[in-house]
Amino acid sequence: MTRLFISMFRKPAVLAALIFILSTLSVGSANPPANSPSVKGKKVLLVWGGWDGHKPKEFKDIVAPWLKEQGAELIISDSLGVYTNKELMGSLDLIIQMWTMGKISREQEKGLLDAVKGGVGLAGIHGGLGDSFRDNTEYQYMVGGQWVAHPGGVIDYSVQITNHEDPVTKGVNDFKIKSEQYYMHVDPNVKVLATTTFSGDHDAWIKGSVMPVVWKKYYGKGRIFYFSIGHDPEELRIPDAWQIWTRGVNWAAESKYEPAEKWVSPVYPGK
Ligand SMILES: [Zn+2]
Repeated sequence: MTRLFISMFRKPAVLAALIFILSTLSVGSANPPANSPSVKGKKVLLVWGGWDGHKPKEFKDIVAPWLKEQGAELIISDSLGVYTNKELMGSLDLIIQMWTMGKISREQEKGLLDAVKGGVGLAGIHGGLGDSFRDNTEYQYMVGGQWVAHPGGVIDYSVQITNHEDPVTKGVNDFKIKSEQYYMHVDPNVKVLATTTFSGDHDAWIKGSVMPVVWKKYYGKGRIFYFSIGHDPEELRIPDAWQIWTRGVNWAAESKYEPAEKWVSPVYPGK
């Protein structure tokens, strides 16, 4: 029997067929069909509050129905106290926060940072993630940027997609928006997906400045997704913006399931 088996492989046709089958199998296992990232079945905590000018309740009312419709297990809280619930925080897949300015206690901040470090994703827009808790630098280190100005207030500007390969912005069009054009202090190691350019009409010395609008990053094992539009949460309804937002949220929800993407961007090339 063994001899018959071996002799079969001496026949070129059989051997060729076998090699073909093996090669398909190995290609199959090396490149499994990529499942689209999704919040379906994921445990998501939506935290809203802070400065009323950013309409955190309206944000919640736009985002929560979508999360439910997508099949997420949704927990909504209007208190930062939820960040101290260790058991809950550890069990989450994603936190979406809309909390501009305000104060966070040391214990609440630790609960949030520890959860994200451990692999819980974090997503948010505008001041709700990028201008929260101004006293807390470790929080800002996690987010990867901090709002510092919006010259001219609410103005017309455009958002340019700069990364056409990343699944979050692939196929998305540049779009125009009337909002606050966020000027931010940004971590040079974030992965920038879209930018905006300042005209200099309001602050002449920043004419031509190119500023990140959409970025991804890691903090520990947790994925961070940030989008700087959204002074009025209704801006999320711009079709291209909505696509970026929902894809970014889906991406951030996968920290615990997908391997970390390694990137540190060489903005300042060294030797
Ligand atoms: Zn604003």
